[in-house]
Amino acid sequence: MSAHIIDGKAIAADLRARVKTEVDRLARTGLMPGIAVVLVGHNPASEVYVRSKAGQVTAAGMRSFDHRLPEDASEAALLALVAQLNADPAVHGILVQLPLPPQIDATRIIDAIDPGKDVDGFHPLNAGRLAIGLPALVPCTPLGCVTLAKTVRPSLAGLDAVVIGRSNIVGKPLAQLLIAESATVTVAHSKTRDLPALCRSKDLLFAAIGRPEMVRRDWIKPGATVIDVGINRIPAADGKTRIVGDVAFAEAREVAGAVTPVPGGVGPMTIACLLVNTLRAACRAKGLPPPAL
Ligand code: NAP
Repeated sequence: MSAHIIDGKAIAADLRARVKTEVDRLARTGLMPGIAVVLVGHNPASEVYVRSKAGQVTAAGMRSFDHRLPEDASEAALLALVAQLNADPAVHGILVQLPLPPQIDATRIIDAIDPGKDVDGFHPLNAGRLAIGLPALVPCTPLGCVTLAKTVRPSLAGLDAVVIGRSNIVGKPLAQLLIAESATVTVAHSKTRDLPALCRSKDLLFAAIGRPEMVRRDWIKPGATVIDVGINRIPAADGKTRIVGDVAFAEAREVAGAVTPVPGGVGPMTIACLLVNTLRAACRAKGLPPPAL
């Protein structure tokens, strides 16, 4: 059996096109969604990611406000910038790129972002609303994971799911979203006993671990849907490096029903979902109904 490869790149492109259609419709009412992206320092991975975000934001017809602070910026300076962005009516979404330099407490910064502009969905108010089943701005990567799974299984109700990883940015919100979809959810982590056997009984397997190719063939139930969140850089044969996921892709595609590749799976969905969140935040700020996407 050869699994269906879930084309995250194409699905994300389709979602971005639908966002653009909504943005164009809103433009006729005079509303132009805007997102402020704040980068502190010169983390090379963050620089690449922020550039890619800015390009996709403007391609979707939204405004992108780029803010750079030096590596040695103080927490007070970043808090002051966040306060300024909170007050700016042209800014509907605020994204502070993580990780932050050690002199800045990321929790304090996230707490300071207006929850209505928290397009990363990391603010405790949004996390709490998601947990108790209220409308919220939801973290982009988990949102992308569920969207991808639903392209294969339009209803997740009653399916057995395992989420490997319990971070606040991926594992936990992903589990909450799956519960909201009426899946039966197990959250696994580094202390979980006999993870391969646990995973082997699940219809849906989400890997958000940060361990290259840890999920092997015999972890996967035949026909299962496998969503690989991991982004790991490993040495390549030519002396350079390459990116792999948390799932051994070549093995998974022989037994799974559907699997996401890395790259080209969850990654592109994360930015597409950021656009969705910004659009939602802009509509809410103007008292408009949420966009039908
Ligand atoms: P994280 O904060 O480091 O969390 C990793 C989780 O994996 C933790 O809950 C940890 O368990 C668990 N874990 C680690 N080793 C394990 C093991 N041997 N067995 C079982 N569980 C284990 O990472 P994250 O921020 O959630 O990110 C996870 C991965 O997704 C990374 O590769 C990251 O680069 C990638 N990512 C991708 C995107 C995207 O857009 N595609 C976005 C975000 C993250 P404990 O809690 O017990 O330590």
